[in-house]
Amino acid sequence: MIQGIGAAAGVAIGKAFVLPAWEWDVPDRRMEKVDLAKEFERLYEGIRTSKTEIEVMKNEIKETVGAEESGIFDAHLAILEDPVFMSEIQGIIERQYKAAEVAVKEAIDHFVTMFDLLDDEYMKERALDIKDVGNRLLKHLLGTPDITLPADTQPYILVAKELSPSQLVHLNPDNVLGMVTMAGGKTSHSAIMARALGIPLVSGLENKLTEPLQTGDLLVIDGDEGYVYLNPEPEIIARYTELAEKQRRRKEQLQLLAAVEAVTKDGVRMRLAGNISSVKDLELALKHGAEGVGLFRTEFLYMDRSTFPGEDEQFEVYRQVAEKAGPHSVTIRTLDIGGDKQLEYFELQEEENPVLGYRGIRISLDSRELFQTQLAAILRASAYGKMKILYPMISSLEEIRAANAILEEAKQDLTRRGIAYDPDIQVGIMIEIPAAAAIADLLAQEVDFFSIGTNDLVQYVLAVDRMNEQIAHMYHPFHPAVLRLLRQTVQAAKDAGITVSVCGEMAGDEKAVPLWLYLGVTDLSMSPQALLRVKHRILNSDSRESKEVGAACYRLPTSNQVEAELVRYAHELEQERLSK
Ligand code: PEP
Ligand code: MG
Repeated sequence: MIQGIGAAAGVAIGKAFVLPAWEWDVPDRRMEKVDLAKEFERLYEGIRTSKTEIEVMKNEIKETVGAEESGIFDAHLAILEDPVFMSEIQGIIERQYKAAEVAVKEAIDHFVTMFDLLDDEYMKERALDIKDVGNRLLKHLLGTPDITLPADTQPYILVAKELSPSQLVHLNPDNVLGMVTMAGGKTSHSAIMARALGIPLVSGLENKLTEPLQTGDLLVIDGDEGYVYLNPEPEIIARYTELAEKQRRRKEQLQLLAAVEAVTKDGVRMRLAGNISSVKDLELALKHGAEGVGLFRTEFLYMDRSTFPGEDEQFEVYRQVAEKAGPHSVTIRTLDIGGDKQLEYFELQEEENPVLGYRGIRISLDSRELFQTQLAAILRASAYGKMKILYPMISSLEEIRAANAILEEAKQDLTRRGIAYDPDIQVGIMIEIPAAAAIADLLAQEVDFFSIGTNDLVQYVLAVDRMNEQIAHMYHPFHPAVLRLLRQTVQAAKDAGITVSVCGEMAGDEKAVPLWLYLGVTDLSMSPQALLRVKHRILNSDSRESKEVGAACYRLPTSNQVEAELVRYAHELEQERLSK
């Protein structure tokens, strides 16, 4: 057995297909005649073609996997625009009269070696991104064809030195049972994509193999434990065949829960909705039994285009979502750009602290027309289903009042135009800034519901940037300070008689169920992938016992202790379930 890193869960048994390394032989060519202009033109042409290809892949991934995963390619586009990377290439051409492909190859090697030397998993993964983009550029400069994956063979386990997100785009998940890579770790973009595609992946086998894997070798891989077995004994094959069958059955069983209501063993009813960014996400959420949409992140409607989407265009999308959701409600969050989400055509100033800067409702209140257009589109869709409006990044009463004033104008305008809408449409706010949690009792007087965004709430209350890998270990959703704000917010909502739901990543973590039961949260909204797991957990929970565990967690003094207790209890429940 070879021990690697379990980067995407699941087991797979099958024949290996070894992908040739995507590396080019670049002869050290100098310009025969010093013609800098021509060489630069070749370079820019290569960059333009590479960008177009990356854009196409990005859109494909957005359609087939999801909007968030497609963001991986933004990182690739950014590399092609990175001034440091580009000036390194240009410098080599200009000063050493080397051909464009030689300069690109040397620049890649330079940056990859530099990142690899750092003892930082995150930077090492970024080195892979540079290689991926650089190789694409080289491919165009050298005019070499793409390496393609076999399409008409038996399903196989893909083995590669390293896999880039661009290679995964064209992967047919029905053909690929699992993947093994020599490089990479849990946080690589390929690992993120493998998890989203549901393909088991073991990575990090570099220097662990005594002989190279060959196409045709029989492999058993275990993406949970990070094991790879090369031409294993029959017992191993039998053991893993059984395990694979168990996992397949578990998936099937979980799918059966889609139609079942989320009720604890002692009858506490919870409602699980989906977080979506597109109509496609909604389809998956509904397949996994979502009771409507708790959070429609509309930013993605505004991305990958050159102008703002107009009222009619937005209305079409919201109407489709409303109709597909049927009797369930759909909560549409108004535009939440700024911070880590930017629009190419909407120039925002460079900021020292973007997450504390010009974003969310702050932008909407300044751009009245933009905001009113979106509100009008949502209102029009409210004639086709149960819509709710959700304002992001609220920190004060004034913001709610100002937003509602624009909503009122949008309503009056529609009335004037004779267009139908729901005049009593519910309006709620995200509780994701600590100030909002602190004055939740005051805010509750002016809205119909709260939706707690734990992703930002955790970031702001702990002063830990959620995008900064270097301090990722300090990002603790179970920090007692977070739990106190959650309790205070839920209590304020209950006192005011308004509904409260949780829509951050925490909602999709099944071990947090005891906390929700203790706090009295019965509405959760989560990524479509998490719905069935959380429901399964609720169905196997006793609310009284869970509340006691939740209460005990609430009193614990550190995040680690809270998390350990939740893990312990989850394990206990699982053992109980299996022993039956
Ligand atoms: C949140 O902040 O918890 C949230 C759900 O919104 P987003 O992740 O889009 O910021
Ligand atoms: Mg947020």
